[in-house]
Amino acid sequence: MGAFTSFGRKLMKLSQYFMPILRDDPKEAEIVSHRLMLRTGMIRQESAGIYSWLPMGLRVLKKIEQIVREEQDRAGALEVLMPTIQSADLWRKSGRYDDYGKEMLRITDRHERDMLFGPTNEEMITDIFRAGVQSYKDVPRNLYHIQWKFRDEIRPRFGVMRGREFLMKDAYSFDVSAEDGRHSYNKMFVSYLRTYARMGLKAIPMRAETGPIGGDMSHEFLILAETGESEVFFDRDFYDMDWSAFEIDYDDLETVSQTVTEYTSKYAASDEKHEPEEFEKRVPESRRLSGRGIEVGHIFFFGTKYSEPLGCVVQSADGKPVALHSGSYGIGVSRLAGAIIEASHDDDGIIWPESVAPFKVGLINLKAGDAETDAACANLYSGLCQKGIDVLYDDRDDRPGAKFARMDLIGLPWQVIIGPRGLKDGVAEVKERATGERQNVPLDNVVSLF
Ligand code: ATP
Ligand code: MG
Repeated sequence: MGAFTSFGRKLMKLSQYFMPILRDDPKEAEIVSHRLMLRTGMIRQESAGIYSWLPMGLRVLKKIEQIVREEQDRAGALEVLMPTIQSADLWRKSGRYDDYGKEMLRITDRHERDMLFGPTNEEMITDIFRAGVQSYKDVPRNLYHIQWKFRDEIRPRFGVMRGREFLMKDAYSFDVSAEDGRHSYNKMFVSYLRTYARMGLKAIPMRAETGPIGGDMSHEFLILAETGESEVFFDRDFYDMDWSAFEIDYDDLETVSQTVTEYTSKYAASDEKHEPEEFEKRVPESRRLSGRGIEVGHIFFFGTKYSEPLGCVVQSADGKPVALHSGSYGIGVSRLAGAIIEASHDDDGIIWPESVAPFKVGLINLKAGDAETDAACANLYSGLCQKGIDVLYDDRDDRPGAKFARMDLIGLPWQVIIGPRGLKDGVAEVKERATGERQNVPLDNVVSLF
């Protein structure tokens, strides 16, 4: 059963769709995901590091976003939506207005007020929380949003992987003590494992730079890919860990904390935090692996770094004012669209994991205009529709070879191929994109396959 999606139509005829496929490889694309996203008409560059998302690309982005949302909600975080444009005032209080440097896009409004396009939201959320809580009874809370960010990256490249405008999920936790904060951190850590697993990814948590608090409370999640920007070093044992979206009870502090221990006890670090001596000491040579990785998430505990300057203080149980302890938790939602392609493609094109595929099934009519073939396709099309399956119906009058190549290129998980030859025997050919396996299926049984 296809996942219910609240956006867009579940069925689409190619003859009525907008999927501007490029015949040739775009010259500017250095890596496979960028090339395939441009070729399949998922995105279009508007200026350096700034993209429009076209219908197919947007469907994927929305599906990724929805998985992220469901897993945040499941872990107890509450969705909000903060604006993209922020006032400079709060950033002056935290001291980051000057520190952030050229990556921050600064804007002046008509009244000469300093504004900025948010690169992140620690200041704003801390101020929102400050205004809304009084006592220790109002915490813990975790608020998140999924919103466009702007960072004026010095070298935007690789398409949506390093954009200037990009979609991020950022969550922020608030606790009365650093100890409670650790549990909030652990919950997000585990929710990230589930989130990436649902997208078919293995995202290895690696030690990352920690802030003024120190300790081990910062992790980046990296998926392995030759084209990744970071060099990574890790224990082969990670391959044998459970990368499925395992069940977890987030209120069970002990299990949540044990899970974090399990996924952090093996050595894994990206170049910035890599310690060659420790790597050699802790990991026997036969298990030492290195490669490249794409950072798809970063979680961070920073204690009272923002709550102190911004006055985010509550009454503790014994009546004393305490500054709240916080962490922030980012996922690169738009980067993930590219990262998933890096992890899942072949020479013919994209291979979408079902959970994020723009459509589950591609229905190919091999002889558009032929009454019998058209009727068989129309029948299947409506059967799949009734079952709530996302279908892209290739009803165009093209050569079969062109249709096969196009369908492989866009990478829908399943292809249902209908032509006069099969129809004589009352069958459709069903092809699984990932394995290339084909089988003939009686027409009446096709719908029940999905
Ligand atoms: P990077 O090291 O890749 O520059 P970062 O450490 O600056 O990222 P964070 O502030 O940790 O980024 O942001 C959270 C997540 O947002 C990152 O893990 C990444 O997946 C995503 N992200 C960050 N910068 C970009 C960008 N320029 N384009 C697309 N996604 C990004
Ligand atoms: Mg980071």
